[in-house]
Amino acid sequence: MENSADSSQIVEGVICHCGHFTTLKTSWTETNPGRRFRGCKFYGRPDACDFFSWLDPPAHPRYKSVINGLLRNKSVADKKREVVSWKFRIYQIGFWLLMCFVVIHVLL
Ligand SMILES: [Zn+2]
Repeated sequence: MENSADSSQIVEGVICHCGHFTTLKTSWTETNPGRRFRGCKFYGRPDACDFFSWLDPPAHPRYKSVINGLLRNKSVADKKREVVSWKFRIYQIGFWLLMCFVVIHVLL
């Protein structure tokens, strides 16, 4: 089972082999981007069962290509934003160090 879900919610009415309500998650893998599925809420633990069921039908290859492209672009944009954020913090520190230097020289 592919499991790159970012969030999940309990789905009432659907019981897994463990006897618990299943969770509804969204796959963000390259092969199934944005496709929802149900699974055991204990997935990944040794005591989990293997219950798994797709909620959505397989997506059209063009849809997958577009979504995967958007996700890659978002990832690149997130990394660039993080770099800009760090540069801004460094400039802020430099600014305050400069202000401290100026104030000390003005006062002394
Ligand atoms: Zn289970």
